[in-house]
Amino acid sequence: MARVFNFSAGPATLPEAVLKQAAEEMLDWHGSGQSVMEMSHRGKEFMSIAAQAEADLRELMGIPANYKVLFLQGGATLQFAMIPINLLRGKSSADYVNTGEWAKKAIKEAKQYCQVNVVASSEDRNFTYAPAQADWKLSRDAAYVHYTANETIGGVEFHWTPQTGDVPLVCDMSSNILSRPVDVSKYGLIYAGAQKNIGPAGLAIVIVRDDLIGQVLPKTPVMLDYKTHADNESMYNTPPTYGIYIAGLVFQWLKQRGGLAAMEKHNREKAGLLYACLDQSKFFVSPVAKADRSLMNVPFTLKNAELDEEFLKGAKARGMVQLKGHRSVGGMRASIYNAMPVEGVKALVDYMKEFEAKHG
Ligand SMILES: *Cc1c(COP(=O)(O)O)cnc(C)c1O
Repeated sequence: MARVFNFSAGPATLPEAVLKQAAEEMLDWHGSGQSVMEMSHRGKEFMSIAAQAEADLRELMGIPANYKVLFLQGGATLQFAMIPINLLRGKSSADYVNTGEWAKKAIKEAKQYCQVNVVASSEDRNFTYAPAQADWKLSRDAAYVHYTANETIGGVEFHWTPQTGDVPLVCDMSSNILSRPVDVSKYGLIYAGAQKNIGPAGLAIVIVRDDLIGQVLPKTPVMLDYKTHADNESMYNTPPTYGIYIAGLVFQWLKQRGGLAAMEKHNREKAGLLYACLDQSKFFVSPVAKADRSLMNVPFTLKNAELDEEFLKGAKARGMVQLKGHRSVGGMRASIYNAMPVEGVKALVDYMKEFEAKHG
């Protein structure tokens, strides 16, 4: 069977070139006579794979030398707890921006460890926009400020970097990391689960300024202390080796394609096609404020929800899958991460026009 265009929000489509290379190297990685999955994480082969992956990520994102790159497990969700556990550093409160489902989960978990100040929220308009910086009521004594750069479910993305002065800025970048250049030096900590824009599920990446490490809450399990992982090059215990390897191949693929500036261009082109289709349509509706539309996750509804099933069925017949919207939003959602080729978006737009002509 031909490969489908997979619009899943995560685990998401991976670059075909990466999957082919992994297949070629499956039984014998670089003459080692073994698969990466079977290697000792302390052997020189795997150590070289991990070191290369980190070096390539540093190069792609321009990560300054005073930041640690950690390859962890537990998904982005474990970071909802690890962040307050590690970054409170004697303080008793943190600032959070509430922009939707993922921000709410981060807030809920942080409340177990500290006072959470919700300093801005888009709940008043059902989480369809990014609150402007002017409306953030930052506290003076917060340990850090947390926001969600791209709300994967709502399809709302910050197209600007918040300013928080001396208070470290912490960002959940799970669903838009590597989609465009970012100035890492503006952040105290950036984290992401891998399964959207990096690689397979099971790996999470944390990029953290080194002066923020080393002051965890008492009785913190050793695995939840960033220092454990920073001091041991993410190999205190057995890391998710195969996930790190695939992530490394994705980093190489990104470099070959011209890095993050080229990715941004590519992503703007793809999202532009889809939003232009939505804006011209009298049948499909995008709920998100134009200025804050995500380049990665594009939710939309059909004028007549009774046609949802038929739309999905027709899409599947044309080789396009996972377009059903999140249960909390309904309608459709097209996730068009880095690895989604422009052909996939064109096929979707053609199908939407055809469907509207028939049912609009
Ligand atoms: C997917 C996602 C998460 C949760 O990631 P897990 O790796 O499943 O824990 C958190 N935040 C955002 C923005 C996401 O898209």
